[in-house]
Amino acid sequence: MLFSELAVYFSRLEETTKRNALVEILAELFGKTPPDEIASTTYLLQGRLAPFFKPVEIGMGEKYVMDAIARAYETDRDEVRKRFDRLGDIGAAAREMAAESQVAPAPEHTPEVREVFERLTGIAGTTGAGSVERKVADVAALLARLDPLSAMYLCRVPVGRLRLGVGDPTILDGYSFAKAGDKSLRKRLERAYNETSDLGLIGQTLWQQGIEAVDALTIRVGNPVRPALAERLPSADAILAKLGRAAVEKKFDGFRCQVHKLGDEVKIYSRNLEDMTGMFPEIAQGALKQVPAHSAIFEGEALAYNPLSDEYLPFQETTKRRRKHNIENAAQELPLRLFAFDLLYADGENITPLPYVERRERLKGLIQPDDTILLSEERIATEPSELLEVFNDAIQGGLEGIMAKKLDAPYQAGGRNFNWVKLKRAQAGELQDTVDCVIIGYIYGRGKRSAFGVGALLVGVYDPDRDVFRSITKIGTGLTDAEWREVRERCEPYISEEKPARVESILQPSVWVEPEVVIEVLADEITRSPVHTAGMNGEKQGYALRFPRLISFRDADKRPEDSTTVGEIVEMYGQQGAKAVPA
Ligand code: AMP
Repeated sequence: MLFSELAVYFSRLEETTKRNALVEILAELFGKTPPDEIASTTYLLQGRLAPFFKPVEIGMGEKYVMDAIARAYETDRDEVRKRFDRLGDIGAAAREMAAESQVAPAPEHTPEVREVFERLTGIAGTTGAGSVERKVADVAALLARLDPLSAMYLCRVPVGRLRLGVGDPTILDGYSFAKAGDKSLRKRLERAYNETSDLGLIGQTLWQQGIEAVDALTIRVGNPVRPALAERLPSADAILAKLGRAAVEKKFDGFRCQVHKLGDEVKIYSRNLEDMTGMFPEIAQGALKQVPAHSAIFEGEALAYNPLSDEYLPFQETTKRRRKHNIENAAQELPLRLFAFDLLYADGENITPLPYVERRERLKGLIQPDDTILLSEERIATEPSELLEVFNDAIQGGLEGIMAKKLDAPYQAGGRNFNWVKLKRAQAGELQDTVDCVIIGYIYGRGKRSAFGVGALLVGVYDPDRDVFRSITKIGTGLTDAEWREVRERCEPYISEEKPARVESILQPSVWVEPEVVIEVLADEITRSPVHTAGMNGEKQGYALRFPRLISFRDADKRPEDSTTVGEIVEMYGQQGAKAVPA
């Protein structure tokens, strides 16, 4: 397929806000895509050159893309900047200049997607002395071979501005419709996706070898597995009634790590499937030292530990090091420990189908005792009082609560179900659990707050059935000046002139924000609401959070699609009023 044809599909996707229409356009695009271009087309649709867990980046900011545009259309950076300032989009600037220039060819003379993708990958791989200069020259050479529309989309890729509003579930639906004409393949594709996290690999396998080959795709070292997630229940009684006898562990408020080891190489992935190895050098070393198995995938919670006070520090402190330049220093000042709680793969064997108790036994055998990787302690509880002992112990130690695990359950990649159940501490008049929300807009403030340009945040939760974000509350009070500033900084790159494609909201904020920034919110209760769209269905009212307050920024470990779902909100609404610990 020519890159210019792909660009036309991009523009059709960009103009649509309806989920069904997005799927239809994708199915048409995939239907025309040759098997050896399906992976690259998929990555490009997400503005990338590789799956999310591979840190392949073009490595050119706006400034250098402007240089490339200037060079391609034989002008200077000031001219490009002028247009950029006027149009607010570097792609639009390139498109306008391409249209005026003598260089841009007709759409039917652009290179194929395959070639553009290979060139971009080459540019991403350029390193060493003079690499910036070579990248600029290569992008310029590529631009000179593209028609104006193609040039626009190409320039949006390196600056991370290609936002077509297609999430992973929408791509899976697109694959299914392209191959089967309906949604019938979705479940099988999703299973492969949960275990490999690589949409391009799945597309390529489906196109080249068929759905049976997709069924054979499974867990492998080097591909993060989409993590298993926990449900909520309101009390110890409810948990044991649901799970029967259960394993109970402390719930650590740290950073979930999925550790992959192969020979003497270790990779650590976050909950949102990013390669975070560089952030956790001591845990990578610990894995080499404490895990003799040749290959393994295990999970645990990494926590900052203060050796002076023998205290475990909350998530906030743990993630501070993400922004620290000198991680080695941070590793010394605030050494992390990993509390390992599950094993997915060991010595070439996928052990996710095994019952929890067996995986746990294998995990115990896998890790040699030492300081860095510790086995999270567990207790098998039959009576609510036994579960509550662990709970109280956890709370006393400053932790969040407990996780209860079903003894005979497999590890279900990407699944939130009652195999794992969390029970958290709640103060009187608080919801039992926090809600992970996505910022979708903000409303300008008056008075003091207007100095930060934000008066209230409009936030939403995820509706996975439709792959959209639906509003659930406004957060207007309780933020410190520093937090407002941080909100502003984080939202800045995602400001959108129009309502973003995947957002559903009746309320109109002063400024829309692309659903990217995840925050953890604590509220007093969930109420029915005629103005918020979360859970709204025909005549049925939506749901809203009452008295919401910001607890932490979670974009370090959660993608927008990892935020709380509408279904969870409905469940939490039903569980309100129950107490974790009997009065
Ligand atoms: P939440 O993010 O509140 O839904 O809680 C689920 C998260 O708790 C998991 O993703 C883990 O990061 C974390 N966690 C902490 N302690 C444990 C544990 N003992 N077992 C499993 N997950 C845990």
